[in-house]
Amino acid sequence: MANVRVLVPKKLEHCYDVLVAGGGLAGVMAAIAAAREGKQVLLIEKYGCLGGMATAGLVFPFMRDCEIGSGRQVNAGLYLSMLEELYAMGGSNAPHSKQYKDELLKILLDRMVTRAGVKVLFHSKLCEAEMTDGCITSVMVATVSGMLRLRAKVLIDATGNADLCAFAGLPFQLGREEDGLCQPMTLCFRFANVDMERFDRRQATAAYQELRARGEIRNPRENVLSFRYSVDHVLHMNTTRANVKDPTDVEEVSGAEMLLREQMLEMYHFMREHVPGMEACELISSAVEAGIRESRRIVGVSCLTTEDVTGVRKREDSIARGAYGIDIHNPAGTGTFQQNLPPNEYYTVPYGALVPVRSHNVIVAGRSISSTHEALSAVRVMPITSCIGEAAGIAAAMAIDGDTGLAEVNVPRLREKITGYGGLV
Ligand SMILES: Cc1cc2nc3c(=O)[nH]c(=O)nc-3n(C[C@H](O)[C@H](O)[C@H](O)COP(=O)(O)OP(=O)(O)OC[C@H]3O[C@@H](n4cnc5c(N)ncnc54)[C@H](O)[C@@H]3O)c2cc1C
Repeated sequence: MANVRVLVPKKLEHCYDVLVAGGGLAGVMAAIAAAREGKQVLLIEKYGCLGGMATAGLVFPFMRDCEIGSGRQVNAGLYLSMLEELYAMGGSNAPHSKQYKDELLKILLDRMVTRAGVKVLFHSKLCEAEMTDGCITSVMVATVSGMLRLRAKVLIDATGNADLCAFAGLPFQLGREEDGLCQPMTLCFRFANVDMERFDRRQATAAYQELRARGEIRNPRENVLSFRYSVDHVLHMNTTRANVKDPTDVEEVSGAEMLLREQMLEMYHFMREHVPGMEACELISSAVEAGIRESRRIVGVSCLTTEDVTGVRKREDSIARGAYGIDIHNPAGTGTFQQNLPPNEYYTVPYGALVPVRSHNVIVAGRSISSTHEALSAVRVMPITSCIGEAAGIAAAMAIDGDTGLAEVNVPRLREKITGYGGLV
């Protein structure tokens, strides 16, 4: 027998300046922003591509990134550069289009991190964090090469579920105030071979509601939520719904994945049999995992409140803006509550919402910032989480340069840096 081996455990002894856990858009922007400040950055991602929900999760399109009425852009910086470059490489049909081709987005994100000098480890899942006196001293990552222990001066939690903070023992909130329930999970999927000229979403919803009323459709969602995808004859579906108690409970999530696939099949039969334009449709893809709209929210030094969003407050320590309003898919079943912002308005995201209490060298990027259940329903969309990510990356670098904890970062200076790079605060 030639070439017989046993595994030699891999080691990465180097202590990075910044370790970003999670390569969704928030993590990518955070990594690039920290590297742009001259830091050595390691980005770990459990899948084999970057983009998180925007790619692997088949979430589409980007939601509102500009004011209602004026149309003024509120999400800019790296996010806007990404849209422009995506257009230039044929990934969308206009420079600031919110519709995009996710396969091209994956490639663009690879290029962006490579250009910035970020080291990426794919197929690497963070599964443990060691914390001493408020400092995360190391993390364990399950990789294709086995378990790796990794170290960094500052860590950015961009996992969406606040895995890093939770594994380190930091406190978090889950779900709405009254019963702890989170927004439902949804498996996104796509139909090809759709006759778009004849497909009408309102007509589909009318037929769907009739069958639901007769008990012939079991999906608790109230209507058919679909979007014309960026490829001809392809319809994007965001219409399944699993109400689970805890989207970070492995048993519950496993059950939800199977339930949601059954709902997808139900929708396939429904569409083919009852909806004009869908007679010959085919299921071509579903996301690698069911999407989680809401899970752990860290307890931060500051919190994005419901009133911040609905009252379009401009906070002094703002590091990002949002123009997307309240959007709560019913955590308990059927129905969706939506409340737009007033015209020509935006709210702001306070820096302190990114900084977990009782911690020194960790910051959160993306949807798990400190917020109320209602505020999260607004701030979770991808243009905003991208901008939060960029701010987190700059703040991480500033904490290293100033030799301070994340809570002590000079926020006016951080704001200057963000705007200096073309962001809006
Ligand atoms: C069904 C659904 C529909 C939505 N629709 C829209 C929409 O139409 N438009 C819009 O703008 N927003 C939409 N959103 C919201 C938006 O997609 C997410 O809130 C947003 O992508 C969050 O960005 P993020 O970078 O914080 O997290 P994510 O995009 O979730 O990225 C987190 C990344 O971390 C990785 N990761 C997680 N845990 C670990 C770990 N332990 N170790 C290593 N890596 C890890 C993941 O693989 C992922 O790549 C939707 C969300 C869902 C669930």
